[in-house]
Amino acid sequence: MFVRAMASARHPILAQIIPIRRCNLACTYCNEFDRHSPPVLTAEMLRRIDKLGELGTSIITFSGGEPTLHPDLDVLIRRVRARGAIATLITNGYFLVPERIKRLNAAGLDYLQISIDNVMPDDVSKKSLKVLDRKLEWLAEYAEFDITINSVLGSDIREPEDAYRIAARARELGFNSTVGILHDGGGQLQPLSAAQTGIYERIVGLGTGLFSFAHFDAFQQNIIRGNPNDWHCPAGGRFLYICEDGLVHYCSQQRGYPAIPLQQYTREDLIREGAKPKGCAPFCTISCVHQTAMLDEFRTRPRETLSGIIQRRKERDPDWRTPVPVRLLERMFVRDSRTRDRFGALALRLFGVSRSKS
Ligand code: SF4
Ligand code: SF4
Repeated sequence: MFVRAMASARHPILAQIIPIRRCNLACTYCNEFDRHSPPVLTAEMLRRIDKLGELGTSIITFSGGEPTLHPDLDVLIRRVRARGAIATLITNGYFLVPERIKRLNAAGLDYLQISIDNVMPDDVSKKSLKVLDRKLEWLAEYAEFDITINSVLGSDIREPEDAYRIAARARELGFNSTVGILHDGGGQLQPLSAAQTGIYERIVGLGTGLFSFAHFDAFQQNIIRGNPNDWHCPAGGRFLYICEDGLVHYCSQQRGYPAIPLQQYTREDLIREGAKPKGCAPFCTISCVHQTAMLDEFRTRPRETLSGIIQRRKERDPDWRTPVPVRLLERMFVRDSRTRDRFGALALRLFGVSRSKS
């Protein structure tokens, strides 16, 4: 995905697609579900996945509602893999049992994310560690895909300390952990209190990944302090959100723009919409779009981006030693331009990607 993202700026890196709007839960802060919608017809979902494949999409993420309520989710995952994209799933985890996890393995799922909001269920959310812990143990035992547990901070979460306990449990089970900041109905920031900020810093201290750190550092350090981010939101171009009606929107929180049917979406649409300034960008908290933008920044300014990431990592932890894969990336992208071109061409060949002039 990384290499393909580097190869061209003319295709979507990440598309989030909704196979069903219905959810079995009803978290009070959520505006992305209903209680009644039927699943999108499988033949129609396959058509949409094929179209995303034609546009050259690198990652296709099933989201909802609750995507595991779709009866043919495994068929859809297989189609994503057959189109050469990475298949990922965002779920509340309620329907995960060993047999379901093994079917996701067999379908070729690459990555799964579960958001857990609290330790004990309350009237805001039932996505709770107490309810889901057994599922996490099953995932640790049976899953062949990567797993990230996302804990959440924000004004609707009653016990902010829960986020730390959830992240610590995720690390204990060998999963990645991230922390999301709740947004309002427009994807906009709800600033954190001093106590919540302290918990956020402790959760970041649990992580070791260079790029997860970089992501936190680049965007979330501003977000948690209530400061704007200076970035270009690539939604509509490098990031797409496909609703259950098959329309392309900027993201889950900016539905209605541009609302063009996916089947009619062209490369011109990708370039035009991706380039448009978004007024909601400075206080946006939609982390998957931040990550997409970070990859784009890496593509256009590899030297500055990677050196900044490494420098910030060392500032936070002076004993940190650059791991071997990152040293390789440094050689590929940061050192002199001849080395960079040679390594870049080799990587593209290894991954079967032809370099585009775009
Ligand atoms: S589980 Fe997810 S989709 Fe369902 S109501 Fe909660 S946040 Fe929304
Ligand atoms: S800045 Fe982009 S990702 Fe964020 S809310 Fe606006 S359109 Fe969505």
